[in-house]
Amino acid sequence: MQELNKDLDQFRIITEALLNDETENPVSELIPADKLFEEMDLSLQEEGISDDKFYNSLTDLVLKTPKTASAHFFNQLFGGRQSKAVLGDLLAVILNNSMYTYKVAGPQVGIEKEIIKQVVEKIGYPSKSSGTIAAGGSMNNFMALIMARDHFDSDIKQNGVRKSLIAYSSKDSHYSNAKNAAFAGIGKDNVKYVATNKAGQIIPSEFEKAILEDLSNGNRPFFLNATAATTVYGAYDPINELADICEKYKIWLHVDGAYGGAVLFSEKYKHLISGVERSNSFAFNAHKMLGTPLSCSILLVKDKQNLDYSFSNDATYLYQTHDDDFNPGKTSFQCGRRNDALKLWTLWKSVGSRGLEKIVDHQFALADFAREYVTNNPDYQVYGPGDSVSVCFNYKGIDPKIICSKLYEDRELVVGYGEFDGVEFIRFVTINANNSEKEILNFFSVLESYVEEKQDLFLTRAGKTE
Ligand SMILES: *Cc1c(COP(=O)(O)O)cnc(C)c1O
Repeated sequence: MQELNKDLDQFRIITEALLNDETENPVSELIPADKLFEEMDLSLQEEGISDDKFYNSLTDLVLKTPKTASAHFFNQLFGGRQSKAVLGDLLAVILNNSMYTYKVAGPQVGIEKEIIKQVVEKIGYPSKSSGTIAAGGSMNNFMALIMARDHFDSDIKQNGVRKSLIAYSSKDSHYSNAKNAAFAGIGKDNVKYVATNKAGQIIPSEFEKAILEDLSNGNRPFFLNATAATTVYGAYDPINELADICEKYKIWLHVDGAYGGAVLFSEKYKHLISGVERSNSFAFNAHKMLGTPLSCSILLVKDKQNLDYSFSNDATYLYQTHDDDFNPGKTSFQCGRRNDALKLWTLWKSVGSRGLEKIVDHQFALADFAREYVTNNPDYQVYGPGDSVSVCFNYKGIDPKIICSKLYEDRELVVGYGEFDGVEFIRFVTINANNSEKEILNFFSVLESYVEEKQDLFLTRAGKTE
């Protein structure tokens, strides 16, 4: 008890040091991976160390870790902090429940059920729908694939895949689709990647063409992964048109909204996932657009029976009290499962659905602002769709790989690059809702001054690549 209090005091001290450092040094010192163990003492020993030494080395470690919440971090599909969500997650750690039974998690089970119920209503699924919170978007896609597989052929669960199955996804969909097909016994080669249009959206007629070809070859199409939004471009696949085809050929429609599915909270942007109520399953990551700490990945399934059929297993040592309905371990992938619901619940409770809507809308507003900036400046070449929080561009024809690594090495900005149709570009993501237009402008001004300053380096490189 005394020790915990002391450590919690230290937590405040270390956190304060971090928050100050985030402003002063928004990009952490870069330690080359091959020098890491020389430059930092990460060793573990037989004997413990004094608390003073311990707290010092912990502070050092924290300050040298990449700062994903700083105003110079635009590298990933998450960033910043929603304070109320942080509070919820910290309490989840202190509480340390496991989300398998009501006996062990009590009202926390209700927290998760309330989130699932609310999202089900918002996306227009029927009341017999259900869901779970898995360890991430990749795992949600995997669970959806397994449900689709078992729904298509209920025998597979017991006897394995005996005749090949075909899954479809767009060529710009998340890489977890290939891995998941391998895990599920479907096989990577049985994932067909459907072509996308210039905006990065799957082309429905190409999808139908692929199905017809597979059917005529005696293959068994069973699953489509539609994306909302794609990881690089932030493109939303046209769900209604895809649903027409899936209904016609009895194919399970899963909507992978890990990145952009949270538009379900926005009056202005929910049209991007219109038709989602026609899908069989839908997933989104609250740790991306809603800004909760990692991870918070919600999976919804239209017919609860699919989740039960594929994931329930009896375990008498575990399920000893209460109804299955209050023992969410009965429908989850994991056994012991972290409470990822509380952080979203605390945020949602405190700001309301309206507040979540504001978070989402703000990111799009920042993206519009950034896109307008680059569009109106002839030094920038802009790529990608309009309604997206990924703003893709190149600056003065400079190789995006080179500029992104130089900016990182010189501790200016952390931003990454992407590729579409063979063209590479900087992918600037306005997902940190703590930012304002000021931070967006600052990004461009840092980038431009840096290029100006290092002109020689970039002009020669740019010259080479053209
Ligand atoms: C991020 C992302 C995923 C993976 O989610 P994780 O939580 O990182 O596993 C899946 N699909 C899309 C479209 C994504 O952007």
